[in-house]
Amino acid sequence: MNRKPLPRRPAPYQDELLSSWIARLADANFCSVPELCQYLETGQERPPETQSDLAGIEIDGFCATLRLPPLQLGSMLLQRRAEFAVECISWSDFQHCPACTHKVSGISLRHWRYAWSLQCEVCGSELSPVRRDPAAFVHLPTRLRTPRQKGSEMAEAR
Ligand SMILES: [Zn+2]
Repeated sequence: MNRKPLPRRPAPYQDELLSSWIARLADANFCSVPELCQYLETGQERPPETQSDLAGIEIDGFCATLRLPPLQLGSMLLQRRAEFAVECISWSDFQHCPACTHKVSGISLRHWRYAWSLQCEVCGSELSPVRRDPAAFVHLPTRLRTPRQKGSEMAEAR
């Protein structure tokens, strides 16, 4: 593989999620996250977040491009706990540390995703809920229903 290491590499923040760091690397290297994922040959447009997301990725080359020691990779991923009856690890950012996000904008730390985390493990501040984009709650059931209704109307018209 002849992939060059990324020219700009801000260091990962303490306990930063791989997905958060990859987003910051994309920013630092003036490309989009999907473009960087394509360069890293992750096989998908969103950055890996769990161990299973790494399936099919050639780890040595992936780490060499990021200049990341392969041993550090596991500590940047979320571990799914199949033995837990209830999902205690969030799939998306629901809380954050205002002090740390003020220091490094756009970061997302691994322990912030844990339902049982109340305080930032880096600076000790209390974690705050992340304000959601109201647009994220807009569902489109009517739009999805329309083609089917049209289809049945067309069938009835025949
Ligand atoms: Zn903090």
